[in-house]
Amino acid sequence: MAEQHDEALLLRRIPYSESSLICHFFTKKHGKISLMARGARRLKSPFRSALSPLYDLHIHWQEGRTGMGQLRSIQRDQCLLNEADALLGLELLANIQHLFQESDEHAFQMVHEALFCISERGGKEGLCMGVWLCLKYTGCLGELFHCWHCGQETMGNMLWKADQLACLKCATTGLPVSIGLRKSMHAIFQHTHVHLNQADLKTWQAIIGLLLQEHRIKVSESFL
Ligand SMILES: [Zn+2]
Repeated sequence: MAEQHDEALLLRRIPYSESSLICHFFTKKHGKISLMARGARRLKSPFRSALSPLYDLHIHWQEGRTGMGQLRSIQRDQCLLNEADALLGLELLANIQHLFQESDEHAFQMVHEALFCISERGGKEGLCMGVWLCLKYTGCLGELFHCWHCGQETMGNMLWKADQLACLKCATTGLPVSIGLRKSMHAIFQHTHVHLNQADLKTWQAIIGLLLQEHRIKVSESFL
């Protein structure tokens, strides 16, 4: 059975049997993969310290004949976020990991870009930007200045309902999304000096929460 190696980012560790773990990774060339890390929960396992999320990892594995491949070795390189932002990074991974298809070759790069938003901006603003980038990449978002129902350009207030941004002709209920907020959401990706005020940031978090829930993704506290 073929041996493989790749750059990887750890997404999840799920306990398996008494001593092993099933690990989900985003990889640079192999998309999203799951591997069995035998003995990884034993105190002396070399996998224990290396299997950390938010690190650049280099993994070697053996492909399975029928089922899951087996992790053979793992090298941990640099950490992608500083300690103060680590929780936000984990929150980002928890929210976005189910957005990507298994075979998506660009997911690895996208998640790095999303984590970079956190390291550059910090706080909930960076988290929102990171999740938004992934939502955009995975085709969940339309344009901020056009109604997603009728396509009409709308420079006034709009409403967010479920996973859609709609003009006031197409929707009568929903979360109000002002033109100011939409301009800020657009500008924040273009200019590093742009920041959202607290009220706008809360609305953005709520929009992301509604959108993820429409995709049946269990959202974290920031987006509830
Ligand atoms: Zn409309």
